[in-house]
Amino acid sequence: MTTILNTLEAPPRYIPNDPRPSLIGMTRDALADALAKAGVPEKQRRMRAGQIWHWIYHRGVQSFAEMSNIAKELRQRLDEEFVIGRPEIVTEQVSNDGTRKWLLKLAPDERGARHEVEMVYIPEADRGTLCISSQVGCTLTCTFCHTGTQKLVRNLTANEIVAQVMTARDGVKDWPSDIEANPTPPLGGRYITNVVLMGMGEPLYNFDNVKDAMEIVSDGEGISLSKRRITLSTSGVVPEIPRAGAEIGTMLAISLHGTTDEIRDKLVPLNKKYPIKELLAACRKYPGLSNARRITFEYVMLKGVNDSPEDAKRLVKLLAGIPAKINLIPFNPWPGTQYECSDWDTIERFAEIVNKAGYASPVRTPRGRDIMAACGQLKSESQKIRAKERLALEAH
Ligand code: SF4
Repeated sequence: MTTILNTLEAPPRYIPNDPRPSLIGMTRDALADALAKAGVPEKQRRMRAGQIWHWIYHRGVQSFAEMSNIAKELRQRLDEEFVIGRPEIVTEQVSNDGTRKWLLKLAPDERGARHEVEMVYIPEADRGTLCISSQVGCTLTCTFCHTGTQKLVRNLTANEIVAQVMTARDGVKDWPSDIEANPTPPLGGRYITNVVLMGMGEPLYNFDNVKDAMEIVSDGEGISLSKRRITLSTSGVVPEIPRAGAEIGTMLAISLHGTTDEIRDKLVPLNKKYPIKELLAACRKYPGLSNARRITFEYVMLKGVNDSPEDAKRLVKLLAGIPAKINLIPFNPWPGTQYECSDWDTIERFAEIVNKAGYASPVRTPRGRDIMAACGQLKSESQKIRAKERLALEAH
């Protein structure tokens, strides 16, 4: 049964019309510049930036008042100039399998609009994966994906991407002080062990913000999640793949889903621009690729569309020579979809062919289907604002 833990009645964490910028999501350099604007003398800036970084990202504090090794006067000044709060939680749902989904309401953007995004936490025996969003909506229209039916509203800022990780850490009590106080701490000392950029949006169409956000999330003096535990999933924005490897440096996942251009054109229309051959050529050149650093290929199992033994054989041939892992995803239905999930026997037969060829091909157990939190099911009510509405908002 689904449990809704929070609703809009929960106290809002956002102060209406608050003009103060957030320090969350600023790179270390940007943080030092912000401190300069707050009047911190140059000689102290680096040290103060380090202290504030530690409080925000290592300890997870939500107010400057808690930063006890910073002089009271500076704390007050920081509080006048900046915020370090979190987005508003509209709902937090817990699936009967323990999966959690949060609907977050973002602070107003420059047009005054407050959009919503979803993120999902999936606890498993050996890991806890947080799936975060990089855009509100998506420009791409992958036909098996619920988010694809929601037009792109806007890119998320680095602040909004990092704040998802921080909000989830609050929610599952994953900050070091929570873990120390926990009589039965999780294996490896954390609940969130992995982050995947597989929620709403195409991360490579929001490159700079994703890059800054992942730099912050992986910083060893803060949240400190290794880039080997962060996976960026792309539908195949070929020109950005080498840059992603060189500049973002996380693990890579490809939403493949089809083994011929004819099928993939239908499932992932971006394929018409960057066909399978070009996509796989970019994968072969992904920096640092090795057996210890494999690319994950995601393959959603759609009945009668891409699930035949011939598809499995073609898949194996296509990936020859690429250190790869294949994630078979039983299709998670959503209202209005034209697809059905493949039968279990068909999925097993497909997995067997792929396994025999030497590829690890775990079949991803559907998680959180009862709360529409499973892969490809995310969507928020935020709509692209029309020019007329924007003008009306700006006039207020
Ligand atoms: S699968 Fe990813 S890229 Fe494709 S529509 Fe959904 S969110 Fe966008």
